[in-house]
Amino acid sequence: MRTSWMLLAATAFTAALAASPTFAADDECTLTIEGNDQMQFNKEEMTVPASCDSVTVELEHTGEMDKQAMGHNWVLTKTDDYQAVAQEGIQAGLDNDYVPQDDDRVIAHTEVIGGGETTSVEFSTEDLAGEDLTFFCSFPGHPSIMNGTFVIAQE
Ligand code: ZN
Repeated sequence: MRTSWMLLAATAFTAALAASPTFAADDECTLTIEGNDQMQFNKEEMTVPASCDSVTVELEHTGEMDKQAMGHNWVLTKTDDYQAVAQEGIQAGLDNDYVPQDDDRVIAHTEVIGGGETTSVEFSTEDLAGEDLTFFCSFPGHPSIMNGTFVIAQE
């Protein structure tokens, strides 16, 4: 009996998902980006539709070097804030993922990862549409090369 109840519950859950209203498709709201051992991201611009209530960014380190030598993270701030946050992130240190703690300027960030690792962060797009946003890796020495524009595209 227990098994059939669980099957029923699973079926109901699937049906509820299928019937959910027409928010933007999940895949539109999930972006992936890669960092490598050459201190490069594979994207200079990332775009999501404004219809995404939240965005998930998946960061993959495609290299082999460890995070002490060639760590990467993904940090999002307003473009006006990015250089100051990157600078202060150095003092925060690897234990804090090179991100200033409890800092309102940091809209979202992942942990620092090394080669072969993957991480992700999910954040709300509330109040971000139309803002001039920059993403970057805050590992010391990386922000000036590993950065790009983050766009929340209005329909
Ligand atoms: Zn990096």
